Order: sequence, then C-alpha cells, then structure tokens
Amino acid sequence: MSIDLLIHSANQVLTLAGDAPKRGATQGDLAILRNGAIAISGEKIVAVGDTLDLLALADVHTRTIDARGKIVLPGFVDAHTHAVFAGDRANEFEMRLKGATYLDIQKAGGGIMSTVHATRAASLDDLVAQSRARLDAMLAHGTTTAEVKTGYGLDTATELKMLDAIAALDAAHAIDLIPTFLGAHVVPAEFKGREDEYVALVVEEILPRVGDWRLEIRNRQSNLQSLTSNLYCDVFCEDGAFTLDQTRKILTRAKELGFGLRVHADEFANLGAASLAAELGAASADHLMVTRRDEMRALARAGVAAVLLPGTTFGLGKTNFADGRAFVEESVPVALGSDINPGTSWCESMPFILALACRYVRLAPAEAIVAATINAAYSLGIADRVGSLAPGKIADVLIADVPDYRHLAYRFGANPIEMVIKRGKVCD
Ligand SMILES: [Zn+2]
Repeated sequence: MSIDLLIHSANQVLTLAGDAPKRGATQGDLAILRNGAIAISGEKIVAVGDTLDLLALADVHTRTIDARGKIVLPGFVDAHTHAVFAGDRANEFEMRLKGATYLDIQKAGGGIMSTVHATRAASLDDLVAQSRARLDAMLAHGTTTAEVKTGYGLDTATELKMLDAIAALDAAHAIDLIPTFLGAHVVPAEFKGREDEYVALVVEEILPRVGDWRLEIRNRQSNLQSLTSNLYCDVFCEDGAFTLDQTRKILTRAKELGFGLRVHADEFANLGAASLAAELGAASADHLMVTRRDEMRALARAGVAAVLLPGTTFGLGKTNFADGRAFVEESVPVALGSDINPGTSWCESMPFILALACRYVRLAPAEAIVAATINAAYSLGIADRVGSLAPGKIADVLIADVPDYRHLAYRFGANPIEMVIKRGKVCD
C-alpha cells in the first residue's frame, strides 16, 4: 500500500472515532490521539495512529506534513444551508437595524420573496457563479461537506434550476453537496390567499418532478462516491409559512417518494413540527428554539438529529438561542449548521458557529465540534463516509493552527483553519 500523504506529529488528532451519532454522555467524545498521525492513500484514510508507527509507512513518494503544535480534525459538515441563491439583502439588513418591522420590509419588496425574484431571474450559470464564491469561502473555513436547500424558486422550473445548480457545484467544487428540496419555504406571492393550492402544486407536481430529477442525476453520475444520491425534502413549518397539516401532507408524500425528511421546526412558534419529525422518522429537525422537553425526548427516541443554527439568531441581532444543553441532557444527537442564507445568516464560517454555540447554545467546545462533524454527517445519512478520521473513510481532513481543540471556539473572528484536505487532495 503506497501512502500519498502523511500528516504527523499533531498535538492532538481529533478522530471522533466510535459509534455515530454521539449523544448525551458521548456528545463531547472527540477520541483524541496525542502526537498523532494520519496516512492517506488516494481519497481515503488508510491509517490513524501514533506518529512513530505511521512514519514507518512512508516511502519516497509520500508527501509528509508536519503538524507539530497544531491540531488535526475531520472536515466540517454543515448540516443546514441555503448557500445557492442570487442577489443579496443588505438593504433589508440596514432597514432592520433602523427599526423596520417584518411587514415594513415586505412592503419594501424585501424578505424571502426578494431572493425568489432574484433567483428566478438569474441564469443557471449566474446562479452557479454567485454560489461558487460562497462555497470557496466555506471551504477555506474548513467545510468539506454541506447540505444545500432549494426554496428560492417556488415554481417547478426554478426549483429544478436550483437543483441543477447544486449538482453542477457538487461536480465542479471540492465541497461535496447534499441537496434538499425546500419547495415549501414560503407560499409564493402569486399564491397569496390560495395557500392550499400551492401545497397541492408541491405535492402533485413539483415533488414527483424532483423525484425524477434524482433518478436522472443518479443515472448520469458514474462517480459512485458522489454523496448527492441522498436527497431530502424539508418544509418551513411556521406561522406565516406552512401549517402543521400542510407540513404533514408534504412530508408524507415525500417519504412515499423515497426522500429523507428534514423540518424547519419551532423557530418562532411551536406548531408541533418537532413531534411530527419524530413521528415520521425524519433525519433532522432544525432551529428548535421553542421546543419542549417532552418533544426533545420524542426526538431522542426516534433518533432524529437536532440541527441547531445559532448564526441565524445572531444574524437577526436576537438572543433567544436554542438550548443545546437541554437537547444533550435529553440524549438527542445535536448537530450544527451555518444556515447560510441572504436574509438572516450570511456566514460561511463553521468556526464562528462553534464560537456562538459554546457561548449561547450552551454546548462545551468538544460537544460543538462533534455537532459540526460526525453528528452533522449522521443527520445527512453519510456518517459511514465522512465526519470522523478512521481507516476507510473519505480523507476530508483539517489542520488548524491552534495547540488545543478548545481554541476553535475560544477564539473567534479570524480563521483558525490552516490547511484543508478534501478527498485526499490539499486545497490551495
Ligand atoms: Zn433554513
């Protein structure tokens, strides 16, 4: 076996080895090796262990990287993003700072619909180009896998255009992308007062078309290691978005069509979406800022990951963060996402999300790192391939120029990630 790349002498290698997901007492289990090393062949990890043992595997063809004084960890998995969109909403941000209400912003043409208009108007190439710049920044901050939602199309053609953009970026960009269909993001303006008609359109027309799209993509992809064969359906269950009944209709149909399920639940109002996620066996319930303890226990029993998104609360200048500690106490697998989107959280940095999670979501640094790697991978159904450092896994590896894992969350505002290795290749 020839070793292409050998990273050695790291102060700490955070392997995150062990069963996934990690929850309750194991939520903070980083499985750290001191003076550790990792050997990579092709795009896979082939050995993880003590530096002296692994250096013996190197030959003249092996590139060696000395990580003395630094830490090594798996690439971040961002469990919840809206990274594909056109335009921006800087104007809305400024209006909100000056005291404008949600309604004021809507009247001025702001809100999700303004991004929908920009995304509908953009060509596929333009959408890909605008989104690629964000993925570049995410990669530089250590994200090697990300979920990406549609939901700025809200009509069949534009939802499919967004999926094509996600597939094109997945093929062309180092970051592996997992697509989620979020046709039920908001009711589009043209269906105002006819909400159930829009739900019917999603259930009867758009969802089946997206199911067909997935089959086409699978047939087109000769690269069997692509992660995009996982396809999820998500619904924004919230006052002003979709009711619990509508959410149930859409997710039930999606499940019949073979989609995995995710839910935007309990961000502002508790409509019962967390319980629905547990009942339907969803992969994740996301946001969860007003979730009750009994609902947390239902999520734990069903193995649903809680994807917490502190960037959004911070982005809105609010302080009502989700209570991550309570989810850990109730043994729910906790994951983290950036929720990168143009309205409430334009954040490409998972290290910044770790900093927020430790201060406001009440996670310990080790728990937050688990949430941003192996548990996020679990929430996306890919924990067997990414999210930890073990032989046989895809070699998505970060070197951070800090002496101890706690520094990843302790420091903030600068980028601690010095080197990103994606599928065994050093990213420049
Ligand atoms: Zn979201």
